[in-house]
Amino acid sequence: MFVADLTHFQDLPADAPGPARNLAAHLEAVVRAATAGQAGAPWASALPCGRRPGRRPCPGRIIVHRPEPPAAIGWRCGACGDGGVISNWEDTPYDLRRRHLAVAGVVHEVVIACQVAAVLRELALLDVDAERLVFSLRALPDGAALTVTAQELEDLTACVAAEANHEDNRRRRGRLDAAFTILNDALAAMGG
Ligand SMILES: [Zn+2]
Repeated sequence: MFVADLTHFQDLPADAPGPARNLAAHLEAVVRAATAGQAGAPWASALPCGRRPGRRPCPGRIIVHRPEPPAAIGWRCGACGDGGVISNWEDTPYDLRRRHLAVAGVVHEVVIACQVAAVLRELALLDVDAERLVFSLRALPDGAALTVTAQELEDLTACVAAEANHEDNRRRRGRLDAAFTILNDALAAMGG
């Protein structure tokens, strides 16, 4: 079990070795998911496991557990069992806990492919509410589930459109356009 203090991974020097930066990115994603979703019980996030046993990507997704009242966040891969705990995550930039009450509205579940979830996690222009949505994605056997109101989905779709408009790389723009189409179709299906 890997015990990490998140503050030790902040502000890594620019010349930090790749494995250290990858580990920091993994821990930051786990904290984002754990603080975006429910507290008090473990749940399966859409975050992929980063391990490559036998040089093949582990197919598992990361199960996160944020205790309530707040304490160290626990995580483990649902397939290979890799896991650990993360302390000192409170009030870091990766702490996505709500600071205000959620806007009331009818909540829908939108099922998206894992590739679309990966595109959403890479978005650079997300505000904190949209980031919370992206990291609250739950694992499904063959995809990910987004729980949203029509307004939240509209805001997230606008973020994807804005980023696609600013993207010069053709391949990445293609992935963003594909994600936009899927979210926009889901929004239309809600009558939004
Ligand atoms: Zn794994």
